[in-house]
Amino acid sequence: MGHPSETILRFPTELLIDQQIVNGEGSEEPILNPATGEVLCNVREASPEQVARAVSAASRAWESWSQTTPGERSNLLLKLADLVEANATEFARLESLNCGKPYARALGDEIPAIADCFRYFAGAARCMTGSIAGEYLAGHTSMIRRDPIGVVASIAPWNYPLMMAAWKTAPALAAGNTVVLKPSEQTPLTALLFGRLAAEILPKGVLNVICGRGASVGQPLVEHPQVRMVSVTGDVSTGRKILQAASGTLKRTHLELGGKAPVIVFDDANLEEVVAGVRTFGYYNAGQDCTAACRIYAGPKIYDKLVAELSSAVSTLKMGTQDEDGVELGPLISDRQRNRVASFVERAQMTGHMEITTGGKLRQGNGFFYEPTVIAGAKQDDEIVRREVFGPVVSVTRFSDAEQVVGWANDSDYGLASSVWTQDVSKAMRVARQLQYGCTECVTLVNESNDP
Ligand code: NAD
Repeated sequence: MGHPSETILRFPTELLIDQQIVNGEGSEEPILNPATGEVLCNVREASPEQVARAVSAASRAWESWSQTTPGERSNLLLKLADLVEANATEFARLESLNCGKPYARALGDEIPAIADCFRYFAGAARCMTGSIAGEYLAGHTSMIRRDPIGVVASIAPWNYPLMMAAWKTAPALAAGNTVVLKPSEQTPLTALLFGRLAAEILPKGVLNVICGRGASVGQPLVEHPQVRMVSVTGDVSTGRKILQAASGTLKRTHLELGGKAPVIVFDDANLEEVVAGVRTFGYYNAGQDCTAACRIYAGPKIYDKLVAELSSAVSTLKMGTQDEDGVELGPLISDRQRNRVASFVERAQMTGHMEITTGGKLRQGNGFFYEPTVIAGAKQDDEIVRREVFGPVVSVTRFSDAEQVVGWANDSDYGLASSVWTQDVSKAMRVARQLQYGCTECVTLVNESNDP
């Protein structure tokens, strides 16, 4: 197989506004290949007038789109799923080039999940439920109807650009809303291609795709009075800014922000499974994942063996460009992000009590590569334990008992994902119940030969 860029004849750089494919009229943003640092193409961001035009188009389209039946919307969402599959290789090539992801992972993991997301919401559109109706006031029947809200502004990050676009647009469209989607200024290509193709399926104005930076395009979009709801996935500080901006017009907001997933490993855990699990899910997408398994707490007896075996497993991860044979992780999204990751590791090293047991260095040469890294000896108050790094860096902290580790796991500014590793199912359930996280995975696989 040749380099993925070979088959891309022309990058999609135009916006979709009111069913028209148009160039942005704002400033130009270079779109990079993070594996080489080269510019793939330039995308001009939307001007303030174009932001307003996109919102007006979505608002006009809502008049009729909101009146469609669930069955009609469902059929169109199924067509969007087919569209993603029919163009799978082109989407995967664009995504891997623009994000630096291994091409095989973009094609094999992300594209099927994206198509499935549209199919899921095609089904959900047909079976929405509401609360029971009743005579709460004598002589009056009260009921709660679920109605579409209007124009939804969907603002996406750079780590899984098309998947985030799907997670945002599919439920909003399924419920009868119209959408103005703004992908990250760093990774707009797959959303632009999606917009262009979806325009042949969806009615005029139902989906609009505009590009640009947060301050110049995101903010005016959030503040626009005709936008009724904002859905953003991004950094905590971005969530804060959007909440403030949305408060001016009292909009509904849906925020999916950062994570620092605790991984609680009890002494009786199946060590082989823990090592394999963290090697995969701590470093998937080069650790640029809000659910990355990056904050390990290891019991007193398993700690040394875990650090040794994890470090040796992580040192075998194959880092490389998009279509190198067997590549497992690519570069970080930008030089800036790589410097941010490197500075976290440098500050951890400077504390004197932590040890970098593998990685901890930039890879010389082209691209924004940072070696997969394990940091042992981290303490609960260390920055590396408390703040989201969003890179291939996992810390390991020793705990003494269940009460202490549950307290530490919950002592965090984040609350997205967590996991518990033990062979004792009832202990796993007990601890999972105490963890204040949106999702908790319990891994209770038994290993007869496990002898921590
Ligand atoms: P980011 O916060 O920098 O940007 C996210 C999006 O918000 C971009 O499209 C950006 O242009 C836009 N934006 C920035 N400032 C804005 C403003 N003032 N008004 C309107 N829009 C604005 O995030 P990122 O660097 O692209 O992505 C990484 C972050 O995303 C990490 O913190 C990660 O944890 C988080 N994330 C969360 C989830 C989740 O499901 N919770 C999933 C993926 C990523």
